Amino acid sequence: MNELFGITNLPYGVYSVDGSAPRVGTRFGDHVVDLATLLDEPVFAQPSLNAFLAEGKQRWDDTRARLTEALGGAFPSSCAHPVDAVRLHLPFEVADYVDFYASEHHASNLGRLFRPDNPNPLLPNWKHLPVSYTGRAGSVVVSGTEVVRPCGQRMPPGAETPVFGPSTRLDIEAELGFVVGVGNPMGTPIGVGDADQHLFGAVLFNDWSARDIQAWEYVPLGPHLGKSFASTISPWVVPMAALGAARVNTPAQDPAVLPYLALDRPWGLDIEVEVEWNGEVISRPPYASMYWSPAQMLAHLTVNGAPTRTGDLFASGTISGPDPDQVGSLIERGGGFLEDGDEIVLRASAPGADGTRIGFGECRGRISKAHA
Ligand code: CA
Repeated sequence: MNELFGITNLPYGVYSVDGSAPRVGTRFGDHVVDLATLLDEPVFAQPSLNAFLAEGKQRWDDTRARLTEALGGAFPSSCAHPVDAVRLHLPFEVADYVDFYASEHHASNLGRLFRPDNPNPLLPNWKHLPVSYTGRAGSVVVSGTEVVRPCGQRMPPGAETPVFGPSTRLDIEAELGFVVGVGNPMGTPIGVGDADQHLFGAVLFNDWSARDIQAWEYVPLGPHLGKSFASTISPWVVPMAALGAARVNTPAQDPAVLPYLALDRPWGLDIEVEVEWNGEVISRPPYASMYWSPAQMLAHLTVNGAPTRTGDLFASGTISGPDPDQVGSLIERGGGFLEDGDEIVLRASAPGADGTRIGFGECRGRISKAHA
């Protein structure tokens, strides 16, 4: 029995068996359990989690309690499938997608690489707001989906005009993604203390990044085609309710933030991430080192009155710790980008209730040759 998927985890995903219509299930040990059957809840007889997400926190809590009780006793084996026998699908329809930049170590490392002449690797806004950009929801794919090497413009070193072709500096960004269950209406921001009413859960997130395309295009409006070709998420959405024991304080925030971002104790998550490249673990980024809380990211994302909706996804930004073997991207390791055929797998685990550990499953992607 896989101990990372015990009774204190119970993540939600969408699965199918032998080409059947996809439905919502939970991962329990080495099985996927069909929730519509187990709980007699038609909301789970659907190919996405969105209808359930939209029902709100009381229903999420009630359902988790019922599920815990049902799986704690004897349940019909007819609703359980061995995990190796199912196909896992994108667990929710992604509405809008925003990517943050919440790791001070990553932002500093990238600042030194992209702006070597500036003595301050962090730009002046960085400790006052969680920096972000809006990305492409339609290219978020589930673990296991092939990632085609993107083509685009780049300016080779020393050249005077750009060239077009397959990216030669294809990279990863190991992140967490947060799933909004219930959004906010336009004009009504989400308070920094109200995130629990809106955030449903978290997934692993690989923000594939073409550094050469990115470096040439990003001035002055930010990342676009260097990122928008594909982002991979893990197939299991771990509920925020399962991550209670993983909550830790963020690193001290200095200078003080503006009142709309202020929490008595900004919370982060003690999630240990692992980056595997072609079968070898190359890095272990610690999520606990992230400077900004997910609650602050959500408050900032909506403070101008922008609405969020069911299925919105916001990613944390690359998770990098202070040490060289804790970085969440290849560019920070100082050499070597992805070749065709390379495979990246992200994994993560966190403290669960009652002294357990809980897992996120795999966020896997293999690079295939660029389209001619
Ligand atoms: Ca990113």
